[in-house]
Amino acid sequence: MLRLPQLDSSRKCGPCTACCTALGVEELNKPRGVICKHICNGCAIYATRPESCRTYYCAWRVGFGLPEDRPDKIGVVCTYVTSKSVGRRVLEILELWEGAADEPRPSALIKQAAATQIVFIQGNKTRKPFTIIPQYEAGKIKLEILNNMEAALKDQLPGFMPGSTTEK
Ligand code: SF4
Ligand code: SF4
Repeated sequence: MLRLPQLDSSRKCGPCTACCTALGVEELNKPRGVICKHICNGCAIYATRPESCRTYYCAWRVGFGLPEDRPDKIGVVCTYVTSKSVGRRVLEILELWEGAADEPRPSALIKQAAATQIVFIQGNKTRKPFTIIPQYEAGKIKLEILNNMEAALKDQLPGFMPGSTTEK
């Protein structure tokens, strides 16, 4: 089992509700990329919100990026996801709007993150998901872009370097 980094107490959600749009919520049958029907100046059912909502924290809340990179400001919601099949942590990035991941700040964050870990990017609407895998050749990092996350994880596991992954 993988352990996520600790919450950064200086990083609060504040007015951000980006994950309430970007993520799917199984209990509510809410698909990814759709604004939750309960958003109303925050969460209208905060006291009784589903378990998925209670336990979710994006990567920014645990220290990913700079303090000013809150998801609603930069347009991407980043989440550390445990891949059971390979027993490693990967970073999943969901766009809040079409092309958000291509904008300068998200692009820089993605490049930085992909140097040490597998990054899976899910576009908003029409863009197909893709995966960036760090490859190490002669001590240099080369980022390889693949279209299918599961295939990529299986193929690349033997040569994958864990980077900042922490394990119990
Ligand atoms: S995306 Fe992150 S900062 Fe924004 S509301 Fe969700 S957990 Fe909080
Ligand atoms: S139920 Fe509340 S916390 Fe959960 S996705 Fe909807 S608005 Fe967000």
